[in-house]
Amino acid sequence: MPTSGSPTLDEWLDGGLSVGDNIVWVVDHEDDQSALTSSFLREAPDAARHVCFAQSSTCRHHSGTEVIHVDSGGPIDPERAERMVLAPDVADRTRLVLERVDDLVAAWGASATVAFYRRTCPRLFDRGAIAYWMSGPDVGPAVIDGVARIAQCVFEVRSGQLRVLKAEGRPQRLQGAITRFEIRSGVPVVSREHALGRLGEGLRRTRRERNLTQAQIAGFAGVTPAAISQAETGRRGLSVDTLVTLCEALHIGIDDLLGTGRAPDPLLARRDRSHDDGPVALFPDPDLGPRTYLLRVDPGASIAPPFAHKGTELVLVATGLVLVDLGDSTPVLRGGDALRVTRNGVRRLDNLADSPATVFWIAVDQVAAAGNGTDDPTAWSLR
Ligand SMILES: [Zn+2]
Repeated sequence: MPTSGSPTLDEWLDGGLSVGDNIVWVVDHEDDQSALTSSFLREAPDAARHVCFAQSSTCRHHSGTEVIHVDSGGPIDPERAERMVLAPDVADRTRLVLERVDDLVAAWGASATVAFYRRTCPRLFDRGAIAYWMSGPDVGPAVIDGVARIAQCVFEVRSGQLRVLKAEGRPQRLQGAITRFEIRSGVPVVSREHALGRLGEGLRRTRRERNLTQAQIAGFAGVTPAAISQAETGRRGLSVDTLVTLCEALHIGIDDLLGTGRAPDPLLARRDRSHDDGPVALFPDPDLGPRTYLLRVDPGASIAPPFAHKGTELVLVATGLVLVDLGDSTPVLRGGDALRVTRNGVRRLDNLADSPATVFWIAVDQVAAAGNGTDDPTAWSLR
C-alpha cells in the first residue's frame, strides 16, 4: 500500500493509504499541516502536485515541491480551480495536496465549496490519485459533514490529538478512534490507539441508536453529564464500576458498548488497481455471506474461478465479452449480463473480446432449510 511518509501513521491505518483515497485533514496547527504534507509528498516527488487555494501568496510552504496558487491575483474562479485539481497529469498514484480548503470556504461559502468537492473528489478517486485536502480548524461543521459524505477518510487534528471522523474501508477499530499526534524531526508520529477513543465512539453510537441524551446516559451510569461529555470526546475515561452500571442499565455487554464484537457493516471491498492479475478476493469469508471474487480476464485469455464449488454460483459481467464454460454448455455474456448456475459449476471463463473483461464471480453456499428439506436458495449457510 502507498505510504503516508509516517511509519506510525501507516501502521495505525492498517498498512497505509489506499490508491484513490481522498483524505480530508482538518488540522489546527500550521506546523502539523506542513509536516503531514511534506512527509506525504516526499514519498513520490516525481508524481506529486501541490495546489494551494490561499487567496494571497503570502502563505509559506515547506513541501519541497512547486506550489501552484490558484488565485493568480484575483478571486478564485471555480472552473480554474477545477482545472488545477484535475490537471491531465493527475493519474494513477499521483500524490496531490490541495491546501487551504478553508480559504475556499471563505471565498465561496460552505455550499459552493462542498459542491466543488463533490465534483472533483470522485474523479480523483476514479483516476486512482491519492489526495490530501488540507484545511484549518475553522472550516465549520456544514463543510465537514458535506465532504464526509464523499471523502474516503476525514481526519481531524486538534490540540495534539488525531481523531478519525470517517475511514471508509478501514477496520472497525479505526471508526471514531482517537490517538495522540505529534511531530518528531518533521515526521508525524501517532501513538498506539488507546481505549478512550473506542469508548467515546461507543458512547456516541449507543446514544444515537437509542435516542438518548448525554444527561440520560449519565443518569444510567450514575455520573455527571459532564463526565459523559468528556468520555465521548476521549478526554477522560469511565471507571469499570461506571461502565458495568451503565451496561446493566442498557442491557448490553461491554463488548457491545466498545464495538469490539461487531462485524463491520457496511463492509467495503475495493480492488487494488496495482494488481490486475488473478482473482481478487472481495468477500472471501463464508461466515459473512456469499463469497465474492473479482476476475479480470485479458483479451484472448481464460481464467478459472479461484476454487471449485458446489451449489449456486453467479457470474456477473461488468465489462467485456465472456464465454462461460459449464462443461455441457457454454453461454456467452456481454457487459451487464448475469448468469446463475446451480447444477454444474463454472469451469473456466474465456474472454472473446480484444479488451480486458471484468467479471464478478459469487459462490453462494446453499443449504437445505432446516426441517422441510427444500433447498430454498435464499437461505445461505452461515457456516
Ligand atoms: Zn499557498
